[in-house]
Amino acid sequence: MEKYDLIIIGGGSSGLMIADRLNDTKLKVLILEGSKRIGTKLLMTGNGRCNVLSSDSASELEIAIHNGRFLRSAYHKYDLHKFFKQHKLPLKQENRRLYPASERAKDVVEAFKIHNVKLKKSCKVDDLIFKDGRLVGVKTKEGEEFYGKNIAVCAGGKSYPQSGSDGSMHRILKKHGVKLTEIYPSEVALMYPDFVELSGLALQDVRMFNSKKREYSGDLLFTHKGLSGPLSISMGEFVARGENPTYLDFLPKLTEDQIFDKLWNNHKFLEDKFPKRFYQHIMQYFPHANPNKKEIRKFVTNKIKRYELVDIKTFPIQYAFTTAGGVSLKEVSPKTCQHKKIDNLYIAGEILDLHGEIGGYNLMVAWYTGMIVADAIKEKFGIIEE
Ligand SMILES: Cc1cc2nc3c(=O)[nH]c(=O)nc-3n(C[C@H](O)[C@H](O)[C@H](O)COP(=O)(O)OP(=O)(O)OC[C@H]3O[C@@H](n4cnc5c(N)ncnc54)[C@H](O)[C@@H]3O)c2cc1C
Repeated sequence: MEKYDLIIIGGGSSGLMIADRLNDTKLKVLILEGSKRIGTKLLMTGNGRCNVLSSDSASELEIAIHNGRFLRSAYHKYDLHKFFKQHKLPLKQENRRLYPASERAKDVVEAFKIHNVKLKKSCKVDDLIFKDGRLVGVKTKEGEEFYGKNIAVCAGGKSYPQSGSDGSMHRILKKHGVKLTEIYPSEVALMYPDFVELSGLALQDVRMFNSKKREYSGDLLFTHKGLSGPLSISMGEFVARGENPTYLDFLPKLTEDQIFDKLWNNHKFLEDKFPKRFYQHIMQYFPHANPNKKEIRKFVTNKIKRYELVDIKTFPIQYAFTTAGGVSLKEVSPKTCQHKKIDNLYIAGEILDLHGEIGGYNLMVAWYTGMIVADAIKEKFGIIEE
């Protein structure tokens, strides 16, 4: 019976990183990928352009990544720019986001060198095998068994299940006593039926905020079921966490007093400020018949500066870009990404309770945790870096 030094469950971003980092060692590594191809979600990233990194400093990364402290030493230890340079993938920067210069996510997938690693596609892991209390291998859906000295779970989150990351390993880990924190969608659009008639419209420079001081500014997109665009998607995880009420400020550059003064003198002041459809929609709340100061101020506060999105919800997790929550970091060593009780079980990527904002942070989680696991495996086998 063949025994691998490492079995990687999942040929996505973090799994590819581990495989690449072990490709030039003599270790026997096997990737088991449940779907027909590797890197499916990676191919979808950044609208096919793949926002591969952010240019943030270590201290900024710690804030942008939820539980980002877990990766504190990785930010300093690993140079992801150098990694992609060595893999002949030139990057280009747009604001703080880095993309492959070719703007093709496919080139990111192809940059990983995994030719010495055995890859089995359409091979979905259905359980972990334990013998005498020790993790020894995995069993696939078809009943095939693979044995390994170490297992790395790189099975991704629960969102976009059609990409292969369907949460099946969450269930399996849980069954074997691995603790998971609550799972909820992050980077997800919002469901809000009240604006349905505005579907297809975009407003620029809007601010969305909540009572817990979360706030994002940017373009607001009205869809047939709710709100989308970067600011809605960024706010999604806080709505999912129940941090309500959530508000919109449609004119963040003007103060309440400024808007009030202008409107008091000219009731049609907002006509130039908004696209026609939105103006017509919002003016249905304007107190038309000889409004007094109090009524106008109330309109400005409640409908322009602090529009409450009552009963707002997110789309379900399958429509989210990323999954928040996952394997509890209390159970995993930040130095090795090794489970503290099952010492030959390693966990990397989105299945961990780590996620980031829009901007390349989620892939950085996958890259860093993949690098940590690969180095831990090398150390375990006494492989010394040159
Ligand atoms: C549309 C979209 C756009 C995105 N854009 C960006 C972006 O531009 N920048 C960014 O930083 N992040 C982006 N993300 C998030 C990012 O893609 C993920 O966070 C990242 O790919 C997670 O890496 P991973 O290795 O943990 O999981 P994945 O890349 O999802 O890989 C997990 C793999 O495991 C396999 N698998 C799952 N269960 C099993 C099983 N039981 N047996 C065998 N195999 C299994 C899956 O088939 C999959 O191939 C985007 C996500 C989506 C959905």
